[in-house]
Amino acid sequence: MLTATIAGSLPKPTWLAEPEQLFAVWKHEGDALIQAQRRAAREWIEHQENAGIGIVTEGEQGRIHFVHGFLQQIEGIDWELKTPMGIRDDRYTVEVPTVIGPISRPRSVHVEEARYARSVTNHQLKFTLPGPMTICDTIADVHYGKRADMAMAFAEILNQEALELEAAGVDVVQFDEPAFNVFMDDVKDWGIETLHRAIDGLRCTTAVHICYGYGIEANLQWKETLGSEWRQYEEIFPALNASRIDQVSLECAGSKVPLSLLSLLKDKQLMVGAVGVEGDKIETPEEVAATLTAAMQYVDKERILPCSNCGMAPIAYDVALAKLRALGEGARLVA
Ligand code: ZN
Repeated sequence: MLTATIAGSLPKPTWLAEPEQLFAVWKHEGDALIQAQRRAAREWIEHQENAGIGIVTEGEQGRIHFVHGFLQQIEGIDWELKTPMGIRDDRYTVEVPTVIGPISRPRSVHVEEARYARSVTNHQLKFTLPGPMTICDTIADVHYGKRADMAMAFAEILNQEALELEAAGVDVVQFDEPAFNVFMDDVKDWGIETLHRAIDGLRCTTAVHICYGYGIEANLQWKETLGSEWRQYEEIFPALNASRIDQVSLECAGSKVPLSLLSLLKDKQLMVGAVGVEGDKIETPEEVAATLTAAMQYVDKERILPCSNCGMAPIAYDVALAKLRALGEGARLVA
């Protein structure tokens, strides 16, 4: 029996936020917003349990965006000083806030969300945080000067947060690092080192998610430029396999990643992406099972966790729900 999970985010219901947006526009404020976020998280957890997903998340229902939701509580950032930034090596431009001084985390960011999720499920609970490199690729800097230095500073505060999440009963802490697929030399130079700093002292399971991005237009266009075989993973997998991270989340469904590259991660548990995150396609359970079976040519079955390719925040609620069900059913087909 394979234990399925998801990369992390899920769409917000229309009564919580404007749908199909990369940045949530909330429909409530104050305590009403917190109650609405909790209800949405609880419903998604129930959906995952019913779909047969073994390791559940709260679907990131409490945050505006997977990076900015964390950064909003961090001091040292000027949110008024917006800098246009060509993120993921100029794939698309976003107006980002700017780091203007030493960063600090005066209080927990997501711990209340984790505590609430823990209180409503007995399943294994995963909580996602943005990875240090991806944060540094989503925020401008006029203080640290070097990306590696700023990333290490973020790794320290991510570590404080991760330790609190673990204490709140989280079983898996995952760092999302889509930037690992773009800055492959930096991964080896300092990316893994910052992840190690972020997991320092954790006893729970640790994971890193590395994808080709949300199913948004800019990413789909970028993927068109990557040729017939996507081999970015090949450059970073040897260093990741040697790292202390337990699990690696990968994009395998409908992608041009040669699955033979999975054999480079022989010492890790692999979250094999078996449903894509494009909003116009719902995989069948048979398609999910076929992707998992293909991965088994290169990975022992006991190291595979069926998963989504990436977060599903920007797609329609019902599409994501159907994908969850296909994922759970497909995982059972190969059991
Ligand atoms: Zn992703």
